[in-house]
Amino acid sequence: MRVLRKSGQTSRAEITNITGWSRAKASQEVNTLIKRGYLVDVGEGISKGGRKPRLLRFNSRLGYVVGIDIGATSLEIALADINGSILERVQEPADVRQPPEELLGRCRVLILELALARGIHPAQILGIGVGVPGPVDFARGVLVAPPLMPGWENYSIRDFFKGTFSSAFVVVDNDVNIMALGEQRSGDASSLDHFLVIKIGTGIGCGIMASRKIHRGGNGCAGDIGHICVDKQGPICRCGNRGCLEAMAAGPAIAEKAMQAARDGKSELLCKMMENNGGVLTPEDVNVACREGDEAALDIIRASGQMIGDVLAGLVNFFNPSHIFIGGGIANFGNHLLIAIKRAVLRRSLPLATTNLAINYSRIASDAGIIGAIMLALEYLFVVKDDLHYSF
Ligand SMILES: [Zn+2]
Repeated sequence: MRVLRKSGQTSRAEITNITGWSRAKASQEVNTLIKRGYLVDVGEGISKGGRKPRLLRFNSRLGYVVGIDIGATSLEIALADINGSILERVQEPADVRQPPEELLGRCRVLILELALARGIHPAQILGIGVGVPGPVDFARGVLVAPPLMPGWENYSIRDFFKGTFSSAFVVVDNDVNIMALGEQRSGDASSLDHFLVIKIGTGIGCGIMASRKIHRGGNGCAGDIGHICVDKQGPICRCGNRGCLEAMAAGPAIAEKAMQAARDGKSELLCKMMENNGGVLTPEDVNVACREGDEAALDIIRASGQMIGDVLAGLVNFFNPSHIFIGGGIANFGNHLLIAIKRAVLRRSLPLATTNLAINYSRIASDAGIIGAIMLALEYLFVVKDDLHYSF
């Protein structure tokens, strides 16, 4: 079941290898699961020499799972079958500062609409994976002191959904961890043991995949790199401390610096854009200015990239990942950001740690979160006690 949840398919030979059972015993167990309607035999796979293995998958009529990716400014929901194939998905703007009942209530409406469109009863939904932009106590499934969404402190997202979807196992995790799960399932990371996913948007976070498992740490907040201090004299961060990476280099800081540059007369383009926008600039405006070759905008992006790269260099020395994938709203800022990040990492990391290190933008960037949310739900499907690092 663990292999099926992770990769979507397996073979009798693989089951024999993993369990150490005899071929006859594996075959008997598999046949029982097929009879009970858990598994289906989907025919021949690709041969690795010798006979082609017959592949097994979950019976897709067994039930469904839902992935929810809540971002600071948008939410996305997908309904998938039990093999992880997306059947329906929907995305809309959202404000995470809303009270949880309102935003989650909207999620519930959307899930019921998606299910209805496919003729699926709420009781057939067996798992819900939720990604949220804040520190999550993973065992309890609640946010703890989330700077972006203060009203959610200790609110039970699990209980909220259990009210409507009583058959579902509800799992809550932070948004970057689900991106890492998405990269592992559908991105370039499917064969990687140790990698990091960095999300740069309104905040900055890091998903850590260690030995092919998400490393969440003792309380679930491993990877919260946005609040590593890069300048003790820097601006005050949402968390209350000074000069956090997030406060210096994430989206709002980029926009703020651009507005300052416009006010200081350092860029005609930014100044004109700010006038047209009613006195404000967004990170997206800075991106546009970068593409136009605006030097002030480019300096801001390079400075952000360097600060992020300096922190990543520390992570590379500490964790020695083989790959770093960069995603999030700021990740479509083109090569200037990426080059600045790479330069800083190469300059400050140990040579052995960077010999085979690849740093790239995620190629499934905007899909990583929602695919990962589905994977999170699947990870706890038909869960057995040994797999459970989770309290009820
Ligand atoms: Zn902070």
